[in-house]
Amino acid sequence: MNQIDHIQFAGKRALIRVDFNVPLDKETYEITDDTRIRAALPTIQKILQDGGAVVLMSHLGRPLKKLNEDGSINYEKFTLKHIVKRLSELLNTNVLFAKDCIGDEAKSLSQSLQPGQVLLLENTRFYKGEEKGDEEFAQSLSLLGDIYINDAFGTAHRAHASTTIVANFFDVNHKAFGYLMNAEVANAEKVIHQPEKPFTAIIGGAKVSDKILIIENLLEIANNIIIGGGMSYTFLKAQGIKIGKSLCEEDKLDVALNVLQKAKDKGVQIFIPVDHIIADKFDPAANTNSVSIHETPESWMGLDIGPQTIDLYSQIIFNSKTILWNGPMGVFEMEAFQAGTKAIAYAVAKATENGAFSLVGGGDSVAAVNLFNLGDKVSFVSTGGGAMLEFFEGKTLPGVAAILQQ
Ligand code: AMP
Repeated sequence: MNQIDHIQFAGKRALIRVDFNVPLDKETYEITDDTRIRAALPTIQKILQDGGAVVLMSHLGRPLKKLNEDGSINYEKFTLKHIVKRLSELLNTNVLFAKDCIGDEAKSLSQSLQPGQVLLLENTRFYKGEEKGDEEFAQSLSLLGDIYINDAFGTAHRAHASTTIVANFFDVNHKAFGYLMNAEVANAEKVIHQPEKPFTAIIGGAKVSDKILIIENLLEIANNIIIGGGMSYTFLKAQGIKIGKSLCEEDKLDVALNVLQKAKDKGVQIFIPVDHIIADKFDPAANTNSVSIHETPESWMGLDIGPQTIDLYSQIIFNSKTILWNGPMGVFEMEAFQAGTKAIAYAVAKATENGAFSLVGGGDSVAAVNLFNLGDKVSFVSTGGGAMLEFFEGKTLPGVAAILQQ
């Protein structure tokens, strides 16, 4: 595979797939969080400094799914024009904008780019061909650059035109990962292929059904799997424990038992909460209590792990050399049920300080780590929720494969 650092960009146009799918103010369309734009800057700046020109493409929202009431596309809401001002400020250059991501205007604008210039294309998802991975649409995009760079890990699990199919129009010497994507892939591969042992995976979140594939794959590589969050209760109920009104997927009880049996067969330790914080309703102001997992009243529900579980899980984390964390331990959005997730975040940070490699991935655990200001205390925070999950499920990400292929 070609590395971005080995490519000569001088006098060339790099077509870069970035993830500028940033949150916007609902009324003014001002950017409310520019993290994703900042994350793409190192790749863009490297190419500009090398004397190349840059053509940027991205999606923003789901314009073909969120149509106006009359069925028309809401161009005003979903235009990437909202990004131009902020991107110009961050790059300290006047970013040009193409009103259509393909076609004659985009082509002539890209052809007339001078070294150091940046052109942003309109939202690729204004075309049906984007999400369909349409060949013809991808080919039209490919005409806008001499070299293709993918720096959008968050969409690498989608075989869309701008994330995957477009790469087929560039040979292996004319395509590469950007810095952001390279770091994502390298860190994920390190965890999956060469984890220093003991390797502990912390899997939380709402549902077993969302996480079953990742757990099954982790049974092949992890030493310990720590279970937390709503999904614990399916495991507990499967073992005959009364869980009251806690979240449970009745149709996944056998799946949970099967996982526990497989873990036993493979010598993988699975940890399930031994105590929890219960509430009489799903409400920040609910009455709460801290009880053993065997003492859940029929009409109460478990919304966080308890202090003994925190101690147990923290010890396992402290003794680990590689840690993967996906999903919160409780309903951390409500302060009353935050302690478990917070303690686990601190345990991961401490283990990292003591030399473990820790990777946090998946929307909610990333949000939790950031909530407790621990983002820079773990080894790597992944930007790709769904993509990271699919990677650890053992799937090949089409956006990654397309760069590696001839
Ligand atoms: P996921 O997107 O699958 O990682 O799930 C994250 C969501 O699970 C968060 O919104 C949490 O509030 C929720 N969650 C975590 N623990 C529980 C629980 N014990 N009961 C209900 N929801 C939970």
